[in-house]
Amino acid sequence: MTMNRTRSAQLYEEALQHIVGGVNSPSRSFKAVGGGAPVFMERANGAYFWDVDGNRFTDYLAAYGPIITGHAHPHITEAIVRAATNGTLYGTPTELEIKLARMLKASIPSLDKVRFVNSGTEAVMSTIRVARAYTKKSKIIKFAGCYHGHSDLVLVAAGSGPSTLGIPDSAGIPTSIAHEVITVPFNDIAALREALDRWGSDTAAVMVEPIVGNFGMVMPKPGYLEELCKLTREAGALVIYDEVISAFRFHYGSTQTYHVFPDQAAVEPDLTALGKIIGGGLPIGAYGGRKEIMEQVAPLGPAYQAGTMAGNPASISAGIACLEVLGAPGVYEEMERLAIRLADGIGAAAVKHGVPLTINRIRGAFSTHFCDHPVTNYEEAQDTDGEQFARFFRGLLEEGVVIAPSKYEAWFLTTAHTDADVDATIEAADRALRNVLI
Ligand code: PMP
Repeated sequence: MTMNRTRSAQLYEEALQHIVGGVNSPSRSFKAVGGGAPVFMERANGAYFWDVDGNRFTDYLAAYGPIITGHAHPHITEAIVRAATNGTLYGTPTELEIKLARMLKASIPSLDKVRFVNSGTEAVMSTIRVARAYTKKSKIIKFAGCYHGHSDLVLVAAGSGPSTLGIPDSAGIPTSIAHEVITVPFNDIAALREALDRWGSDTAAVMVEPIVGNFGMVMPKPGYLEELCKLTREAGALVIYDEVISAFRFHYGSTQTYHVFPDQAAVEPDLTALGKIIGGGLPIGAYGGRKEIMEQVAPLGPAYQAGTMAGNPASISAGIACLEVLGAPGVYEEMERLAIRLADGIGAAAVKHGVPLTINRIRGAFSTHFCDHPVTNYEEAQDTDGEQFARFFRGLLEEGVVIAPSKYEAWFLTTAHTDADVDATIEAADRALRNVLI
């Protein structure tokens, strides 16, 4: 190791004494990439991190998605400071919540009514409760490798975090609960049809990441989402989109309004779970959907869901400010332009060094899979070389480039990255890829 990370190593030893596994989310551990101390960051600005040893890193982790405008964006920082100055939590409604709700509704047409919560996990959990309350059925169909947070139902054969660590199911989830969940492969309409034929009459909802971000970036095959929505409705179940990663990532809106889907009505979900970007880097989640379904929620209906911190002025203000930044013309086009340059540069370096590499890019995000086949589902994403990924990850880190320590996660461009960052990262990747096959 040429980069000095002594202080990170010390802090990790200390953290291990007090915090389980030394980290507050398992995805931050380096377990899947050979172990050792994760890098302890001290501050971040724009596209860069500085660690506790004074090293600078270019950030493509973007905190697993939310930091789409780069760190400490002045417009968002100002909004947070204003909110903090005015008191961080009231326990009463505020006008700010109406503003963010309106912004979400204006860009995601399937939302008649929304409810703010504190995380993507909560948002997903709540959509399931509401779907069950509305349909009066209990089973959920989900897709292998899609990750929907850490609530019981969706951690059955779940995705990126657990599979990276080799734990397909979490301990502590009763089999009675696991029996309520059916998992089928993504992008395989015959498998979904079979599951619905067998369990459709007991199924409350089909839960899907409509554009997948948790086993790499994976698009639904042409016609797949349309067919998924149609079959689910024919079975009398609801379609739930988990857009915690995808909403506002590829364009200003959700999957339903993404231009690659020509017939918006055919890909319209009943319920949507949101998080990450809509909080501008502070904790948030939201869920929403058709009026008559959302009116199941307390205080209007019998499905209970609540939150002391929900809709807090700081998170809501940061979310509004973030969406304001993203609403400017050309923002997504620029992130895409940089992502194309970066992905192409990494791809060319892989060819140069004879490293088989599949890159799945969707606008300003992409995933790097060490394999020589396409990645369209979880099985194909698993069938990739984890050791090569680990060497690539460590090589990049030594070069001052941060990506997620998991072969299933994406690289995210932000509005803060520049051509100079991309040029430097391509050179870093070239040097890292040179040592991947050894
Ligand atoms: N859904 C998806 C698609 C996610 O990627 C994540 C988090 N990576 C979640 C839900 C859970 O969100 P949170 O970590 O905010 O609970």
